[in-house]
Amino acid sequence: MTITYTPTNPVWCSGCGHYGVKGALERAFDVLGIQPCETMLLTGIGCSGSIQNNVNAYGYHSMHGRVLPTATGASIANPDLTVIAAGGDGDGYAIGAGHLVHAFKRNANVLYILMNNAVYGLTKGQDSPTSGSFGQAIADAPIDGIAMGLSIPGTTFLARGFIRQADQLNSLMVQALEHVRAKKGFAFLEVLSPCVTYHDTYPDWNARFYDLDADREYTAEDRGAAFVKTLALNEEGKIPTGMIYHEDRPCFGADWLENDSSPAQLSAHDPHNHRDELQELMGRYLM
Ligand code: SF4
Ligand code: MG
Repeated sequence: MTITYTPTNPVWCSGCGHYGVKGALERAFDVLGIQPCETMLLTGIGCSGSIQNNVNAYGYHSMHGRVLPTATGASIANPDLTVIAAGGDGDGYAIGAGHLVHAFKRNANVLYILMNNAVYGLTKGQDSPTSGSFGQAIADAPIDGIAMGLSIPGTTFLARGFIRQADQLNSLMVQALEHVRAKKGFAFLEVLSPCVTYHDTYPDWNARFYDLDADREYTAEDRGAAFVKTLALNEEGKIPTGMIYHEDRPCFGADWLENDSSPAQLSAHDPHNHRDELQELMGRYLM
């Protein structure tokens, strides 16, 4: 039996940056010949989260802020899947921030697309964890996910795209998918994806993005230099885009993925294979 799935049309506002993310992802699937049957797209909660309804792939809409542990589980359970997690700045940098730190550290084989619009769009325009970085009159300091990633030694792929820089975003999306398809681990791609309805940052970001890919003196292979450059640009009011840091290192679970013992190892942890032990354990606490 052949099962076909027709993605629904997005419900985003006209002009929302997320259309550009969807387009870049689908173009990257085409470029790399990635089939829907070998792809899983998991999302968090927010306007960005609905992208999994609109892309032809297996989909899962997880709880608020919990997309990364869910995606990590999917990637470990089926190493043949290309696993993509997606969400917004509220989902990933607020309630999901602890999971992001550990995803950086763990280097699980997942592409994480974080659509940053510096606002909570779905709930109608509250300040988000990144709002302060973009000139809004709030007192608390903004979170910079790229700088956070650079500070954690396990990170292997850190990049930032901007919807208005379509060629660069398309290229970064392809590189991020290649990283995951080669089982090199966690690829973090933040995309500046403005919310035209509640906080239109197009003019501000147009004026302030700085294309590191075009900077001939910059190398994305040096973590220390990347940190210094990123922070210096931030202090100048610039927003670095492009490939910011890249490193080759085995992904989380590489030893399982490399040999045939993976199913056996997972089977050892399957609760169905330990029913008697679990019942005995539960019995002890029910007495
Ligand atoms: Fe996009 Fe903002 Fe509309 Fe949500 S509210 S769909 S983020 S423009
Ligand atoms: Mg947001």
